[in-house]
Amino acid sequence: MDNSQFRRYGHEFVDWIADYLETIEKRPVRAVVSPGEIAARLPAEPPEKAERMEEIFNDFNKIIMPGMTHWQHPGWHAYFPANNSPESILAELLTAGIGAQGMSWVTSPAATELEDRVMEWLRKMIGLPEGFSGVIQDTASTATLCALLSARERATGFEANEKGLRRPLTVYATSETHSSLEKGIKIAGYGRENLRLVPVDSGFAMNPEALQGAILRDKAAGFQPAFVAATLGTTSSSAIDPLKPIGEIASRHGLWLHADGAYGGTAALCPENRWILDGAEKLDSFVFNPHKWMLTNFDCSAYFVKDPGTLIRTFEIHPEYLKTGVDPYVKNYRDWGIQLGRRFRALKLWFVIRSYGVEGLRAFVREHQRLARLFRGWAMEEPDFEVLAPSPLGLVCFRLNDGRGEEALNRLNRALLDDINASGRVFLTHTVLGGRFALRMVVGSRLTQERHVRLAWDIVRASGRRVKAEFSPA
Ligand SMILES: *Cc1c(COP(=O)(O)O)cnc(C)c1O
Repeated sequence: MDNSQFRRYGHEFVDWIADYLETIEKRPVRAVVSPGEIAARLPAEPPEKAERMEEIFNDFNKIIMPGMTHWQHPGWHAYFPANNSPESILAELLTAGIGAQGMSWVTSPAATELEDRVMEWLRKMIGLPEGFSGVIQDTASTATLCALLSARERATGFEANEKGLRRPLTVYATSETHSSLEKGIKIAGYGRENLRLVPVDSGFAMNPEALQGAILRDKAAGFQPAFVAATLGTTSSSAIDPLKPIGEIASRHGLWLHADGAYGGTAALCPENRWILDGAEKLDSFVFNPHKWMLTNFDCSAYFVKDPGTLIRTFEIHPEYLKTGVDPYVKNYRDWGIQLGRRFRALKLWFVIRSYGVEGLRAFVREHQRLARLFRGWAMEEPDFEVLAPSPLGLVCFRLNDGRGEEALNRLNRALLDDINASGRVFLTHTVLGGRFALRMVVGSRLTQERHVRLAWDIVRASGRRVKAEFSPA
């Protein structure tokens, strides 16, 4: 492709994206295809001869788009959001255009220094105490793995890096902790058997006394307790584990304290939500995802550590071909995580923070919380509906409950979810809370307004009437 064609298609594609976002509401939120349907339309063999952009773009519209699920749709209430913004999209375009790989300071000094600065901005924006250093990771899963690896090294005096793990280290979390912790435990060599599930309270948050008990039991049995993961906004119900008492227990027993605020951390932009970080001074590491609720294109995960020395000592490598004369004076982010090569992710954060301002970002979060509270209120008032967990952030867990038995209710609510999603106008997902099938309604898409949340509620209610009649209790 020559430069003039690049210009032409570049403009055309930006127009396409603008049209897409403008008309996204007309599409069904979820792709309406069956497994294999898209693959069947793709040739089995790669093209031997070059194809023209026109044909490729045509097929993109014809074959690929029907198989896309629309995360930026205002009716997106599933999982958690992965919202973006025009500003972030433009920055991604520039990042791709420059095509720099920021493994070391010299490989793009601005990439390193901008990352350093925007991470410090983020730290201040959410009220994380001074003294934490930030680095961008691809995802919270990776950040949590980095925390597990750093904790493993600290607990073994950096012996595991050299000789492998020789004595089991135990890890503490709750049944509500994100599955990425378990994945990290497998990868980092802790062993799944050494994960202890600490009981939760009635609001699904960690019970600190139970944590203390589990640690003491393990110590008495000859285990070495090493890591506790607190979650600020669990995936199932957005429960907030209490950092203060957990932090006291962790420091008393010398455990690494990691907080996973992948979704919830963004809420701390607003002073009224800062309570979720009460006790943060005791943290060893903390992660939250601007790519979830802070208008920044996937992927961009903000990882903060209290002691970058431990992080660097866990990961650093010094092959001759990467050495540079400025190494003693600069940050080489390749030593702050798992990957060597790094995308220039700081640019989109910089664009987002500058174009919304902290005030704009706060207003954005507040509005979503207001809409979630509105929905919660409707669900609480409606006969035959009930709310199943506190909603401190933008998630409401609810179900239909007309008094039939628990097993029948689970079947009924599964049918309710299917009926709601069959509308194509909203997309909700589910979880199980204390054995109860619960529908999750998240407000977090940039385009979601009050009218969309009202529409979602109308659909939920209509579906509720339908499935109740269809599944009348025997
Ligand atoms: C989404 C989520 C994760 C995983 O995030 P990735 O960035 O996709 O790895 C981890 N923890 C919690 C609490 C989450 O909500």
